[in-house]
Amino acid sequence: MIRQAKGKTPRRHPPKKTSNNQKDPVGVYCRVRPLGADDDECCIEVISNTTIQLHAPDGLKANRNGEFKETQYSFKKVFGIKTTQRELFEDVAKPLVEDLIHCKNGLLFTYGVTGSGKTHTMTGSPGQGGLLPRSLDMIFNSIGPYQAKRYVFKPDDKNGMEVQNQVDALLDRQKRDSQSTVPKTPTTRRIDPEFADMISPEDACRADGVDEDSSYSVFVSYIEIYNNYIYDLLEETPFDPIKPKPPQSKILREDQNHNMYVAGCTEVEVKSTEEAFEVFWRGQKKRRIANTQLNRESSRSHSVFIVKLAQAPLDADGDNVLQDKNQVNVSQLCLVDLAGSERTSRTRAEGSRLREAGNINQSLMTLRTCIEVLRENQMCGTNKMVPYRDSKVTHLFKNYFDGEGKVRMVVCVNPKADDYEETLLVMRFAEMTQEVEVARPVDRPICGFTAGRRQKNQAFKDELTRRLEERGGPVDGEFPTVLNQLLQSFPPLPPCEVSGPNDDVTLPRLIEALEKRHRVRQMMIEEYNKTADMLKSVLQEQDGNILSKENFIHEQRGKLGEKDKMIQNQKNEIDRLEKKSKMLEYKIDILQKTTNIYEEDKRSLQHELESREQRLQREMSEKRRMESRMQGIVTDAKLKWEKECERRVNAKQLEMQNKLWVKDEKLKQLKAIVTEGKTENRQPQRPSREKDKAPPKRSASPSPVPTAPPVRPLHRRSHSAGGERWVDHKPTSNVDLDTVLQPNIPNAIKVNAPNEKALSKCDKYVLTHQEVASDGEIQTKLIKGEVFKTRGGGQAVQFTDIETLRQENPVVASSRKRRSSESGPDGGPMEGDWTDVETRCSVAVEMRAGSNLGPGYQHHGYTKRRKP
Ligand code: ADP
Ligand code: MG
Repeated sequence: MIRQAKGKTPRRHPPKKTSNNQKDPVGVYCRVRPLGADDDECCIEVISNTTIQLHAPDGLKANRNGEFKETQYSFKKVFGIKTTQRELFEDVAKPLVEDLIHCKNGLLFTYGVTGSGKTHTMTGSPGQGGLLPRSLDMIFNSIGPYQAKRYVFKPDDKNGMEVQNQVDALLDRQKRDSQSTVPKTPTTRRIDPEFADMISPEDACRADGVDEDSSYSVFVSYIEIYNNYIYDLLEETPFDPIKPKPPQSKILREDQNHNMYVAGCTEVEVKSTEEAFEVFWRGQKKRRIANTQLNRESSRSHSVFIVKLAQAPLDADGDNVLQDKNQVNVSQLCLVDLAGSERTSRTRAEGSRLREAGNINQSLMTLRTCIEVLRENQMCGTNKMVPYRDSKVTHLFKNYFDGEGKVRMVVCVNPKADDYEETLLVMRFAEMTQEVEVARPVDRPICGFTAGRRQKNQAFKDELTRRLEERGGPVDGEFPTVLNQLLQSFPPLPPCEVSGPNDDVTLPRLIEALEKRHRVRQMMIEEYNKTADMLKSVLQEQDGNILSKENFIHEQRGKLGEKDKMIQNQKNEIDRLEKKSKMLEYKIDILQKTTNIYEEDKRSLQHELESREQRLQREMSEKRRMESRMQGIVTDAKLKWEKECERRVNAKQLEMQNKLWVKDEKLKQLKAIVTEGKTENRQPQRPSREKDKAPPKRSASPSPVPTAPPVRPLHRRSHSAGGERWVDHKPTSNVDLDTVLQPNIPNAIKVNAPNEKALSKCDKYVLTHQEVASDGEIQTKLIKGEVFKTRGGGQAVQFTDIETLRQENPVVASSRKRRSSESGPDGGPMEGDWTDVETRCSVAVEMRAGSNLGPGYQHHGYTKRRKP
């Protein structure tokens, strides 16, 4: 039946790549290496198994551009400093190796600053094998028993794979064995001690679900991209010690499936982990030597280790690889250790080295640009050209991003402070890379042969051999029971013992019975064949059914995966948005706080402004009040002084009139004396009765001129028993000062202007005279005198005393008082002047009978003013 199936089932063509619309984001992992012995400041903190936090180191103002001092980055997974190489491999590379074995491509690269642990992660060291040796080990652990013989698979030079027939393969093997230059077989070979124990046996792992009905072969190539040139690290070049040939660079080509490959690149078939290691190590050594010879920096180059796995189904017998190129599947896993991502300035390169460094940066720059454009195209639905061709690295991996295959990146970071700024750039690139999606590789098509033929055919063959050995010696009882039952179902043969030569009964009866049996057998064969045919067709139908069911399941799985991916995408988007919203919330919070502070400021300033305005208002009104008060004072003072001036003018007028009057009188008296000398008898004729209305010329009395003092002989009026009687003369012009500075004389005749009638009744006269003293205060003078009868029958007053009453400002009083005891420095009149007898006696007023005018007062003191 198996044989019949061969070639009958129609071959299904692999689905077109474009039909696959499922995509996965680039898986980005972050590995934090431990701090070096010389570094003490750590600026990275692993805060969860998907997130790290960067702190700006002391002394570096990270927030000068408005960035926050702490930034968080999330990845598919974060590996802290304690992560072992095995743990990293399990998460990052194992799924890629599984994919490789299941005919899917993979790309894994390490990215980071020099010294961040890229090589440690990718290659590792003895005892701490990295992703590369572990991947190789897993591949061989998985396909070990199913490997094809060497040279069965043979790479063509167009990135394809051929299957050689057994004879050609055998010839190639013999040729290899006879060549001494090629490495010896694994059994006789000594492993490089540097590479001896990359992986401990307990770490060994293998993939599940390896297709046992296929045959496998592993090919490796190792290239270096330096300064945008590709070098084959496995190329066998005859060594010329005199003139070593510089390595030749390789070019990139596109194969018929539009995949990029390095044209003419050596692909070495390897049959074990050790052999693969050795090949890798050979390339590594070559790289080291080239770097030393050409004075290159290894951190500036990208190294690419490509593992190709060829697999083809076994033929229906399960013996040999199917001789059909179309059935060969080739998958590859690229392991890339990228150059240090740091900027050129950090390398301190000079001259040509600087140019190289610049180019290396250029290829990483191109990588970043490609990722950016891809992301933009995918997110915004744009169709911008991705500049893969701008650098060899991106050009070589173009298919991974455009076509299908898993892409994973391990971002290595060194938490030391010196790397902080570079690390920030690495983080940004890594975050961006996560947003790029790559088409998911589809499952390998089913080749059409029944599964499990390698084992079952083997078992069948074993069984056949055993049976053949057993043939010839089976006893009755050992017949298979089915056969026994079949034989027993026939009618028993008649007795076939011939009785004699003429027995013609037995033989014909036997013949008949045998013929009958033959007929039955014929019928049974027919029946059997009929049933077998039926069964066959039923089985074929079932086979078809199963196949279509399988296809249906496959489709459903695809749909499920699509849905899963959609969910995952949406989850990722939610995560991203949540992160963003958290960040925005934080920013809003800060802005709110700032706003509050400003508002507080504004309020306090407004408050201050208001209080200042109020104060200003108050001061203004105070000023206005002061102004009006001052104006009041000024007008008061003005009025007062106007009045005073008027009064003084009046007083002066009066005084002048008095003087005039006194002089007049004197003249008259002189005239009278002169005329008296001529006619002496005329004097007694002066009628006394005329005294009430005497004309002015007659009321004249001798003037108290100094040369003619008041007449002594005139008798003084006798003082009455009740004491002296006073004429109290208060001019109407006096200012009313109430009781202050007012003489209070009992029993006095108060007059406003002196008259003869009042004077005749009294013997004392007092004039209350007000004037303004030199200090501006009003001072009151009491000018006292005695009243005499004149010879002419009138009344005359002789002034005897002046009393001065002064009101003093208490503040200036003291100084006044002090001054009063001595002669005034300003030459002012002294009170004492008025008390000396000479002056007193020189003042006299004669009042003519009937006169209404008060006696003038003489300011003799003024004329006698002492000069200082
Ligand atoms: P890169 O390749 O990025 O320039 P390397 O892988 O050469 O960096 O690492 C530099 C040094 O740091 C090496 O000595 C390596 O052993 C050490 N190192 C890197 N990562 C780790 C790690 N995760 N654990 C321990 N040592 C590490
Ligand atoms: Mg390195």
